Amino acid sequence: MPELPEIETFARLLRPALVGKTIVAASVHWARSLAEPEVDAFIARITGQAILETGRRAKFLRLRLAQDWLIFHLRMSGDLRIRPLEAPPSQHDRLILHLSDGNALAFHDPRKFGRVWLVSDPEGLFQHLGPEPLADSFTAAELYARLQTHRRQLKPLLLDQSFLAGVGNIYADESLHQARLHPLALTNRLSADQAQALWAALRSVLNEGIRRNGASIDWVYRGGNFQNHFCVYQRAGQPCFTCGAAIERIIIGQRSTHFCPICQKI
Ligand SMILES: [Zn+2]
Repeated sequence: MPELPEIETFARLLRPALVGKTIVAASVHWARSLAEPEVDAFIARITGQAILETGRRAKFLRLRLAQDWLIFHLRMSGDLRIRPLEAPPSQHDRLILHLSDGNALAFHDPRKFGRVWLVSDPEGLFQHLGPEPLADSFTAAELYARLQTHRRQLKPLLLDQSFLAGVGNIYADESLHQARLHPLALTNRLSADQAQALWAALRSVLNEGIRRNGASIDWVYRGGNFQNHFCVYQRAGQPCFTCGAAIERIIIGQRSTHFCPICQKI
């Protein structure tokens, strides 16, 4: 599933193709991809709206339109593709927006878990989300205070979108490794220095992911190369770049977790 850097990459790559264009028609090929509103209302409302901005909140891609917000959650296999309008649609296109420049924006989603919203105010959708880890307002002191209020294992808490927005399995494992923290450490036992290290590692790893256009570990995320720079993720059995010990893989909360048993002591 794409995480913060992959969605940020989508928002940046789509910007020149979408901003300033008007949606002149829309077709829905799989109604359940639409979370809201219903198909007829969606088509009536979106037709004629200009696209003003592309952006991201957590793992949601959001397009600001003239009157509304168009929001995508790509989940397991969702993809957004620009192509000439006359090109034949793909079998897995769930939604196609016709643009005023003769191109189409297709929401392509073979596994059908992705969702699309057209809303006048996105805050209802985002209200449960925690802070953005790359926001200027998100400080190490805030992270420390939030960790102190939970008595949970570190890795599952980092994946909890109400605790912190946008971090998923890859970037949690890489951040914990860089901060030298064990994924099963209890959050309320961490020191202020450890919280500071985690805060710095999260920002460093997420920014590096964005700089490398995300990680192309499955077919959706074209062009990203952060997967070539993983220190622990999917490196089970290979030597730690810091100490040479074999990277371990364990399952925590049904998610595979990768860490160095020497560098990341509990
Ligand atoms: Zn190590």
